[in-house]
Amino acid sequence: MTDTAYPFANRAIQNYVDGAFVATDARFDNVNPVTGEVATRVSLADQPLVDRAVVAARRALKGPWGKMSQAERCKLLIRVAEGIEARFDEFAAAEIADTGKSLHQARTIDIPRGAANFRAFAGLAEARAMPSFRTDLPDGRSAINYAIARPLGVVAIISPWNLPLLLMTWKVAPALACGNVVVVKPSEETPSTATLLAEVMDAAGVPPGVFNLVHGFGAASTGEWLTAHPDIDAITFTGESATGGAIMRVAAAGVKPVSFELGGKNAALVFADCDFDEAVAGTVRSVFSNCGQVCLCTERVYVERPIFDRFVKALAERAAALTIGDPWSGADMGPLISHSHRDKVLGYYQLARDEGATVVTGGGVPAFGSALDDGAFVQPTILTGLGPDARCVREEIFGPVCHIAPFDREDEAIELANDSAYGLAAAIWTRDVGRAHRVAAQMETGIVWVNEWFLRDLRTPFGGMKLSGIGREGGEHSLGFYSEPTNICVKL
Ligand code: NAD
Repeated sequence: MTDTAYPFANRAIQNYVDGAFVATDARFDNVNPVTGEVATRVSLADQPLVDRAVVAARRALKGPWGKMSQAERCKLLIRVAEGIEARFDEFAAAEIADTGKSLHQARTIDIPRGAANFRAFAGLAEARAMPSFRTDLPDGRSAINYAIARPLGVVAIISPWNLPLLLMTWKVAPALACGNVVVVKPSEETPSTATLLAEVMDAAGVPPGVFNLVHGFGAASTGEWLTAHPDIDAITFTGESATGGAIMRVAAAGVKPVSFELGGKNAALVFADCDFDEAVAGTVRSVFSNCGQVCLCTERVYVERPIFDRFVKALAERAAALTIGDPWSGADMGPLISHSHRDKVLGYYQLARDEGATVVTGGGVPAFGSALDDGAFVQPTILTGLGPDARCVREEIFGPVCHIAPFDREDEAIELANDSAYGLAAAIWTRDVGRAHRVAAQMETGIVWVNEWFLRDLRTPFGGMKLSGIGREGGEHSLGFYSEPTNICVKL
């Protein structure tokens, strides 16, 4: 398969509102970051179209969707999963054209997880039990308390570009499984798989208005028109922490519930008693996967001093050996999402030098001597020598880069890892079981991996502390956010 299979090569991308594909007069470019060329044009949803989407969603909630049984709704969601799987190659080609991500990543993570989210949350919602209590009264009588779950209503979903289908369906699937209707705004950088998903929803027979898709930008555009809309009932957002703050200010006016999955500056703690080869391999994955553009990626590595030099050398060798290039060539790493993001990452590479870092490997852009020189590529980069207050150690860079620093004691390692405004994920590499549990329990993060990274079970709580988010999604936590419990107390 080649990138000529991009499903929107010969047609513009449209919005999907009230069960119909809708074009508007305003268009924006969808640029392929591998070459810098325009892959297709995207119809920008203006404010009246966002309004129509919210109205259509409300109508569907009161109409067929709201009246459908849980079992029927979940059957439809399974059909959506099957629809993604049936068009697997098109989804992969679309994701690669938008992001330049590696073929391996698209085929083994992004697209399968997109389908898996629908299967997982259909199953979880059907099996959901709500608590009930018998309350004994002083007069010998009693009451029964039981809770029922109702949908929140119209949920606005705003998603980022790094794992576009995976992160969007992570919210769409539980929202629909709980009986909500959704208006989705994917990132302006990645409109393609969201539009294929609208086609799959359409073909699966999801009633009009249940899944609406509006394309456009964030502030003063489609994203803000959606999050500021007075008739939405909740907002779920994945993206930068600063954007989360902006959305929160808008949501405050209507006291709307929010679920936020935000940025990270994740640490890995590598103890001298670790399985060295596994720790190196795992850290290579955690720093460079998806060109470092996963919120869970490690950007700070702390290594116990006895193995520090050996670890830095091994990681640098592995980083330098990563192949960079066209995703269709099977390269390990593609480009960053865009040229403007490349400018930001290269700005941090320069800042690191200005702050006194040693650039162990990388630190610039690769030279291809081909059309790829116009792509948004950067080199995988390893830094050492910065203090804990350096901006490159404190700010999220979101590129294929980490800083490695030594530590001498376990409590020092914990302190260094926790010395961050973010609190999303941590990785601990050790063969000492007692230490693993002890250190893990002290990480100020929502997720800790021990001797692993990015091993996901969709039933587990997912989210972050501090600047990394508000709330948890995953399993029952998603069902909790996407529904309103009503407790009913019946005196017997
Ligand atoms: P971003 O915040 O720039 O954009 C995310 C989405 O928000 C896009 O759809 C964008 O158009 C929209 N948006 C921007 N401003 C808005 C506004 N004022 N009102 C409404 N919508 C607005 O983030 P990004 O650059 O697309 O994604 C990268 C960031 O996402 C990184 O910080 C990364 O760590 C974070 N992220 C977090 C998680 C997690 O689960 N915690 C997962 C993936 C990515």
